[in-house]
Amino acid sequence: MTGGRKLSVLGSTGSVGVNTVDLIEHHNAKAPGTYRVVALTAKANVRELAAQARRLQPAFVAVAEPSAYAELKQELGGTSIKLGAGGAAIEEAAAMESDWVMASIIGAAGLRPTLAAVSRGVTVSLANKECLVCAGDLFMKEVRRSGATLLPVDSEHNAVFQVLDARQSAAIESVTLTASGGPFRTWSVAEMAKVTPAQACKHPNYVMGAKISVDSATLMNKGLELIEAHHLFGTAPERLGVVVHPQQIVHCLVAYRDGSVLAQLGSPDMRTPIAYALGYPDRIAAPTARLDLAQVGQLSFEKPDLERFPCLALAQHALREGGAAPTILNAANEVAVEAFLAGKIGFSEIARVVEAALTACESPGRAPTSIDDALAIDAEARACAVKQLAN
Ligand code: MG
Repeated sequence: MTGGRKLSVLGSTGSVGVNTVDLIEHHNAKAPGTYRVVALTAKANVRELAAQARRLQPAFVAVAEPSAYAELKQELGGTSIKLGAGGAAIEEAAAMESDWVMASIIGAAGLRPTLAAVSRGVTVSLANKECLVCAGDLFMKEVRRSGATLLPVDSEHNAVFQVLDARQSAAIESVTLTASGGPFRTWSVAEMAKVTPAQACKHPNYVMGAKISVDSATLMNKGLELIEAHHLFGTAPERLGVVVHPQQIVHCLVAYRDGSVLAQLGSPDMRTPIAYALGYPDRIAAPTARLDLAQVGQLSFEKPDLERFPCLALAQHALREGGAAPTILNAANEVAVEAFLAGKIGFSEIARVVEAALTACESPGRAPTSIDDALAIDAEARACAVKQLAN
């Protein structure tokens, strides 16, 4: 196959990865050769990864989990596709020549590969939170150095990217991200204390992985998104806000000093922001449900309740604090959510563990100076959070 835009999808079996592959295939079916996939990577879901590889015929396919290599070889051995395993192979995939990279690896594991893609100065569509939450200053510095085009894929940040006029940055009064409020928006503190992992994973509007579903239920996800927005758009913490909007039709609001408020609207479907990133700077078709406001009928908005959702307040605190606080917040939250999903702690304990870790692990003023340093702070904070689980 020759011609076409060369793409790599890092984390192709997660929900963003699968939707990206879906859109690529949708467009290639209509106009063969529009996109040429050069590399696909996944953590360990070999079955899905191999199925995608057979359809898209990339040059290179890698799994992060070394133990999954044997199965990958069994699935794709004998084809012309080069195979790899382990962290270095994922970085190799990111470093391969391509014009556009979807960086949708979940967790701190996405840091190095995403940076490897960014350092090539190409277009990087960012769906990984950790790059900005754990090492935002370092990451954005590398984006500026390399001249990479960074396109946020998270629906709220993608929305801000679309309506924020960077030339008018001095005229921006506030940037507001909308939040669904999660499945416990109307629950009492007492009811929330008894929440089960299955209940927490039932997001009202999206089907997502367990970790991000729990983060949406605690509103930690919105807190992490505020930290991301601060780095992506250079917006000062005091100008960043959250409004709960259960219908998730409006994805952001950017207010200017003349009183104008620009919003981006759309049906809640990840394929819209992914299509925006895939087509950028052009707009390409996405086979999503069209927004019919008359049918939606009502849009409602409310203030987030920081008493019932203390994770959001903790994230806002970490954002204002800066330094290592966001890195610690994120690491402690991962430990706490994992413990909740494993049935070791209750839903309301997630915030307690994160708060205790922030107090116990914080090294004031210590901001990560390199990716290695950020990963070291992340590892220290995880160990510290594990100790808080028992308290
Ligand atoms: Mg989001």
